[in-house]
Amino acid sequence: MDPADLTIAEAGARLRSGDLTAVDLLASVRRRASMTEAILHAYLTIDAEGATASAVEADAALQRGDDRGPLHGIPVALKDNMVTRGVETTCSSRILSGYVPPYDATVVERLRAGGAVIVGKTNLDEFAMGSSTENSAYGTTRNPWNPDRVPGGSSGGSAAVVAVGSALGALGSDTGGSIRQPASLCGVVGMKPTYGLVSRYGLIAFASSLDQIGPITRTVDDAVTLFEAIAGHDPSDATSYRGDFPDPRADLGKGVEGLRVGIVSELSGDGIQPGVAAAFQATLDRLAGAGADIREVSLPSTEYALSAYYLIAPAECSANLARFDGVRYGPRIDGATVEAMMSATRRDGFGPEVTRRILLGTYALSAGYYDAFYGQAQKVRTMVSEDFKDAYAEVDVLVTPTSPTTAFAVGERADDPLAMYLSDICTIPSNLSGDPAISVPVGLDDAGLPVGFQVLAPALGEGVMFQVAAAVERLSGFESRPALATSLGAA
Ligand code: GLN
Repeated sequence: MDPADLTIAEAGARLRSGDLTAVDLLASVRRRASMTEAILHAYLTIDAEGATASAVEADAALQRGDDRGPLHGIPVALKDNMVTRGVETTCSSRILSGYVPPYDATVVERLRAGGAVIVGKTNLDEFAMGSSTENSAYGTTRNPWNPDRVPGGSSGGSAAVVAVGSALGALGSDTGGSIRQPASLCGVVGMKPTYGLVSRYGLIAFASSLDQIGPITRTVDDAVTLFEAIAGHDPSDATSYRGDFPDPRADLGKGVEGLRVGIVSELSGDGIQPGVAAAFQATLDRLAGAGADIREVSLPSTEYALSAYYLIAPAECSANLARFDGVRYGPRIDGATVEAMMSATRRDGFGPEVTRRILLGTYALSAGYYDAFYGQAQKVRTMVSEDFKDAYAEVDVLVTPTSPTTAFAVGERADDPLAMYLSDICTIPSNLSGDPAISVPVGLDDAGLPVGFQVLAPALGEGVMFQVAAAVERLSGFESRPALATSLGAA
């Protein structure tokens, strides 16, 4: 087997048994990238030198018996909104072109400390605003299952590289679904942790009360591994959770016998594509067959979740993006005054979706409108959280399709923001509540495109969430790779 096709767990075992070196593993992953990138355009930067140095170092360390844990020698990719010391970080925006950060994000530091080899930085929708990567200033990433389709977004690059094996795992960020939706559209696993469990220090902020970094991998087990490597208190992030959280691996193999699984009625009926609905139902049947107690649960306020999100997220983004003035990075456009320079630079440096969000957010926060828009949205946010609390009094986990549709065509929704926003109808509620959620691939639709199944759990419920996700994975037996990877990988 080509080492690029190994899971993190398998590669780790082979690195330790001496069958494989980190240098050879990196070479396979790079070969896979060189064969797929012309079609996918999933990487914005490949850090050839840095990755080689880390792989050489990882091999030497293992030789000396200095084993840094399950990510030692494993090639991983990072969404390009996490800062990396000495490696350009653009957020897929022209306004940050040429920005070479002087420090590593906490997650990057933790990956490096765990011996991971950082292959490069992946494409995203500009500042993570979007659901298709079409909003990248540096070109669209394509879906590995069908290059005429989008990979989802905003972490589309991270999902695509994991799907084809040009990294064994990746990090994405999820503000309204940006890890789970692309994972679903690309047939891989994507997980959003409980808000506060993973440090946001060095994640270029989109909407700070919603943003979380999380893993994208081929298996649930690998997702747990990456999650464990990056989770835990960080004094550099004021919203970082201080307490202990349960061992996310403790119940991984336990199955679903007797667990109460709630189908969210508002998010599993109308508007769900038939192929998605069929795969969702088939998964529910398998869970029931394995002894899960399946019930219907109502989350009445989720009807308003999307509207609330599209006020809260733009409001926070308008504040967060105010710092980009074009003075130090990006295509600075001179003007007669400092103000004229900033205004011209910002007009030129931000793409249309980011501009739309800044305008919407500024409006929603402005005097006279604040209560009617932002204030109302915050109330809805509380109601959504209350709905979840009520539901979790009755069930252990909730389930929905991850995305109402499989991968849509490039261009199909590019001129229709509302249609694009609807991609996240099933993922946004758990960002508003701050609860964890994961997408697991469960099958292909008639067009051969992957379908994702979402498992949601209460805050700090990663254990039960992973437990159910692992059962879904075993019961579905989804193991396929896109043809793009298998045809080329066979070499
Ligand atoms: N698609 C959603 C948006 O455009 C979510 C993005 C995200 O999670 N970063 O805001």
